[in-house]
Formats: sequence, structure tokens, C-alpha cells
Amino acid sequence: MESSAQQSTPADTPFDATYSTLEEAESAVQLYARQQGFITSRFRSKKDSQGFFFKVWLSCVHGGKYKNTRPYVTEETRQRKTRTRKTSCPWSATVNRDQGADSIWRIRVTEDNHNHLLSSENLSRFPSARHMTSDELELVEDMSKSGATPKVIVGTIRRRNPESLVITRDIYNACQKLRNQQLNGRTSIEALLDDFVVSGIKHTVEKNEEGHVVRLFFAFPGSLGLLNEFSNVLLLDSTYKTNRYV
Ligand SMILES: [Zn+2]
Repeated sequence: MESSAQQSTPADTPFDATYSTLEEAESAVQLYARQQGFITSRFRSKKDSQGFFFKVWLSCVHGGKYKNTRPYVTEETRQRKTRTRKTSCPWSATVNRDQGADSIWRIRVTEDNHNHLLSSENLSRFPSARHMTSDELELVEDMSKSGATPKVIVGTIRRRNPESLVITRDIYNACQKLRNQQLNGRTSIEALLDDFVVSGIKHTVEKNEEGHVVRLFFAFPGSLGLLNEFSNVLLLDSTYKTNRYV
């Protein structure tokens, strides 16, 4: 449903409150904006000498001017292919940490007008509307480690937070990011071999002249214990590709 651009009265906003973290304060602004029918994005931020944020500027996602950095895209093709988001919308707010207090954050709306219609429809097309909180990212990590599919994870997030606009692709991307962090520049097999060493798992590895792994054997300590106790009959489960090392 669309309504004309309008100014909110302070009573409508949650911004009289103080917040104990920047994330909480930003989430409050994002939730308020979504309910009003617009999306915010970080426009600028400042850190103190110790590297901690103390001020963040937020704008409406339609704020700022569109800059054409691709000269081969004409104004006409751009309008057709990618609907521009930037229309110099003036709405802006700041999130400030109180001086001398680590955990008091305040929100101030510095300009409360928009130059476009507010609409609560299709907000999920804006990536910043689908931003996940650190709790949600933790949940993604836990659930993906337990083998939950992105679809199941999305369902859980939405059940916990009906306001969430997160889509399956965001979960894929978050899992990929976690995986890259875990690998830290290593290949999957290098990470696996490192984990074997750290966890004390017996293994032997054979590499060819190029250093590629051609054979790998590993056995968990529990399995070796069982092998020592019951070594008369060996059952070998050689199913292949039914699971993937993550
Ligand atoms: Zn706006």
C-alpha cells in the first residue's frame, strides 16, 4: 500500500530511547523505516582513536545522487535495465555514542522528509533491508553446521522475527562468507589436514609431484579403539559423495 511522503511526529518514532549497542540502535531505525515503508543505509561512519565506532550517519536508500561510472550505459538503458534508487531523498539520521559512556547510543533524525512515496511493498529487493543481526548470523552458523538447508534456516529466522525480509540467497551468501573465514585462504583439503593435526586425528596423506593429494586415509580415535577391540570382522562403508566436508 502506498501513501504520500509525509513527516512523522516524534511520538511515532522509537528514537527517544537509548540503546546499549550500535547494532541495537541501527536495528531500531531499520525496523521503524521498514514499518514506514522505506529503507535506510549507512552513509558515513566515524571511529575513535581505539578503532570503535562513535558516530554513524544513516540515509534513506534513495538518498544521494546516481553516479554513472559505466560510460557505455546511457541514461536510457540505465533507466530500463536498473531502476535507479538514488533520487537525492533528504531523509537522514545519526546514531551517536554518548561521550564518556561506552554503552549509551542515541538516535537523532536530522531530516524527516522524503521526496518519494513510501511503500511497504517489495522492500526485500534492497540488500540493506535484508541485513541480518549478529544473533541471526550466529543462528545461521549453528544451523548450517548441523546440516540445516538455507530454506530451513530462512524459515527459522522468519519464525523468530516475522519482520525479517531475509531470503534464501542471503543464507547462501552468509554460509559462503563463514566458509571463507573458516578456510582463511586455504583450500578445503588443506583446512581438513590442519584440522586433523589440531584434533589429533590419525591420518596418512599421499601427494603427487605437483603437491596434489592423491590418497588420504584418516581414522577417528573412537574408530581405532573399536578396531583394536573387534578386529575379526570389518565392515567398510564406501558410500561416496553422500556428504560434503564443510
Ligand atoms: Zn527517502
